[in-house]
Amino acid sequence: TAVVNRIAAGEVVQRPCNALKELLENCLDAGSTSIQIILKQGGLILLQISDNGSGIRHDDLPILCERFTTSKLKQFEDLSSIATYGFRGEALASISHVAKLTVLTKTASDVVGKKAVFLDGHLQGSPLSMAANQGTQITVEDLFYNLPTRKRALKSGAEEFNRSADMVAKYAIHNSGRAGFSLKKDKDTTPYVRTTKDATLQTNIGQIFGHAMAKELIEVATADSARLKFKMSGWITNVNYNCKKFNFLLFINHRLVDHAGLKRSLQMVYNAYLPKGTHPFIYMSLEIAPENVDVNVHPTKHEVHFLHQDEIVESIQQAVDAKLLGSNT
Ligand code: ADP
Ligand code: MG
Repeated sequence: TAVVNRIAAGEVVQRPCNALKELLENCLDAGSTSIQIILKQGGLILLQISDNGSGIRHDDLPILCERFTTSKLKQFEDLSSIATYGFRGEALASISHVAKLTVLTKTASDVVGKKAVFLDGHLQGSPLSMAANQGTQITVEDLFYNLPTRKRALKSGAEEFNRSADMVAKYAIHNSGRAGFSLKKDKDTTPYVRTTKDATLQTNIGQIFGHAMAKELIEVATADSARLKFKMSGWITNVNYNCKKFNFLLFINHRLVDHAGLKRSLQMVYNAYLPKGTHPFIYMSLEIAPENVDVNVHPTKHEVHFLHQDEIVESIQQAVDAKLLGSNT
C-alpha cells in the first residue's frame, strides 16, 4: 500500500506549487495574518511556510498526516461547502507520502512548541519540545525523493519557483487587509513577493504588477443577488491601459480557480474597447453559495463549475461593460 499511497499522492501533488497552495490555504484557514515562505530550488529541495495562526493542538500531532484527518468538518452540512475544492484532510497526508514533512507548532495555550517529523503518513518517533512562536511552520524537504521519474522531469528550479511565486502573489493580493505575505528564494535577503497586512488591494496590486498599471484600475462590483446567490467585487484596468497578456486573477469563495467561460466573456467585453492584441488586468472575487459550487473537481484541476453559470457570467459581463463605458472618456 505504500506504493499505492505514493502514486495517489503524486497525483494530488504534481509539482511544488500544488503543495504550496494547500499549505497556504491551511495557514489562511488557521486565521494567520502573516505568512512567510522560503523556497530552495523552486521548492524541490526545500519548501518552508511559517504562519502566526491558531497552531495545531499537540494531541492532534500523531494522526496529523493520516488521510482524512481534518479539524474542519464540524457538522454534516459542512460537507457540501467544505468539499467544494475536492479533497479534505488529504493535503498533509499526500505531501508526507512524497517528501519529508516537518511540523513545528504552538497554540496560544502551549508553553512550548512541538516539532514532529512525518514520512509516509506516519509520525517518526515522538514530537520534541522546542521554543516556537504561536503558529505553525511546515517544512517540506526533498520532494519526490521516492518518485525518481517525477523528480527528473521537474529539474528546473527556476520554472517551479515562478509558478509558486505567481500563485503566492495572487493570494497576497486577494488577502489584502487580512494577511501579509513574504516569499523568498533560499539565499536572497530581499523577498521576491512582499505585502503587508494593512496595505490596500490597489497598493498590493501595484507592488506586484507595477504602480503604473495600478493607477489605471477601476473598481467593479455586482449587487448581492439573492436569487443567484452570488456577488462579485474586483479591480480591472480601464480602457486606456493595455497589458501585454491577459492577467486574470479569479477567486471563488477565497480559492484561486480558473473559469474559461468567464475569462472568455470578459475578454470579449474588452475587445470592444482595446486595440487588437492588447489585454486587460482583471482581479475578481466571487462569493457563491457553497452548495451551488461543483464538488467534483480534481485537486490539481482548478477549473470550477457552478449553478446558474450563464446568468452569473452575464451579469458580471454587464457590470464590467458598464464600468468600461464609464471610463471611456
Ligand atoms: P484540511 O485542510 O482539508 O483539513 P489538511 O491535510 O490540509 O486537511 O490539514 C489537516 C489538518 O491539519 C487541518 O484540518 C488542520 O487542523 C491542521 N493544520 C494544517 N495546517 C495548519 C496550519 N498552518 N495551522 C493550523 N492547523 C493546521
Ligand atoms: Mg488543507
